[in-house]
Amino acid sequence: MQLRYQFRVSPTPGQRTRAARVFGCRRVVWNDALARVKLVKAANKLLGTPDNRFAEGPYLRVPKNPDLSKTLVTEAKKTVGRAFFTHCPVGVMQQTLRDLDAAWKAHEDSKTGKRKGPKVAPPRFKSRKDNRQSARFTRSDRWAITEGSRLRLPKIGDLKVKWTRDLPSVPSSVTLVKDRSGRYWASFVVETDPAADVLPPVDRDQGIDLGLTRFAVLADGSHIASPKYLRRAEKKLKKRQRELSRKKKGSHNRDKARIKVARAHAKVADSRRNFHHQWSHKLTSENQAVFTETLNVRGLARTRLAKSVHDAGWAQFVMFCEYKAIRHGRSLTKVARDFPSSQICSACGRRDGKKPLNVRIWTCPEPTCGTVHDRDWNAGRNVRYEGRRILAATAPPTPGPGALARQRAR
Ligand SMILES: [Zn+2]
Repeated sequence: MQLRYQFRVSPTPGQRTRAARVFGCRRVVWNDALARVKLVKAANKLLGTPDNRFAEGPYLRVPKNPDLSKTLVTEAKKTVGRAFFTHCPVGVMQQTLRDLDAAWKAHEDSKTGKRKGPKVAPPRFKSRKDNRQSARFTRSDRWAITEGSRLRLPKIGDLKVKWTRDLPSVPSSVTLVKDRSGRYWASFVVETDPAADVLPPVDRDQGIDLGLTRFAVLADGSHIASPKYLRRAEKKLKKRQRELSRKKKGSHNRDKARIKVARAHAKVADSRRNFHHQWSHKLTSENQAVFTETLNVRGLARTRLAKSVHDAGWAQFVMFCEYKAIRHGRSLTKVARDFPSSQICSACGRRDGKKPLNVRIWTCPEPTCGTVHDRDWNAGRNVRYEGRRILAATAPPTPGPGALARQRAR
């Protein structure tokens, strides 16, 4: 399994300048290659139009990576216009061509339906003004971690890294990233032994209902609230955004305010990621099986709830739960998108129809039941019942989460 390990890096002013050069070279290679491919594609389109008398004519071959690498890196380096490529490791530039290739492929596959999920736009030209800059160093670039625990990157230097945890094995690559708020990160790709993180099985499962007022309500009646530090960061972000909107366009003060907004944004994103990591770890390590709704984030985003949905960042949370479950030998099951978790009485099973979002508490109308429900807790319990049913139906007949679920589903 491949995992990413990210650490904060603090480059010296000189290293910043050299990193900016590497980012710049990478950007130029990307743009040169993109322009070349686009030109060929446009020419072929012209040759292929029905009213063109050369319609049958020979099409131009779309240049492949080896051609691009030869003309746009190796040979270009010798020209005056691209002489500054000497400031960038060749491997980084070749990696850029591979990244561009992958971007084209993602776009083509998404067009033909080979790739699922949202549509992927064709690759775009990169700008110096882009918020995020990055450069990936592979093994061939001979980057290293020095005796003094610094990260040695060719053409940049020995960077000071804030190591917050140990790398489980030798990383295959490292990406130097400058994020939108001007911070630098080293992101390592590490191959891990899948067996190393599998936890011993436990006899518990949990259903999660992701809510608006509380971050999540669990089937056992407990809930997860957004932590104070996250709410504080969000409050600060809103304040900074208000300040920015009051600044005059094009003014120096507006630029300053914009950086403050970007910093506040980064802080919210970081806090939220920590919060999601913490809870997804807790849930997947304490439970053998975790059940959740299937989110239609894109669908909800079109409605009035959009803001809170994005703010809550459920998709990231569910994604964390998913990969942690795999990693720890646990399971995460999503119940169908149209499963009416808030319509069914979790005590007697009566389906009571849709309820408006403002109905937080309701009473089951079944004469023999009459249970009073907290909307979210009831939904969490229903998600757990439904998840157990799905797991029991799909799991192989071996002991483990499936067997547990089969027993409980009865
Ligand atoms: Zn009932």
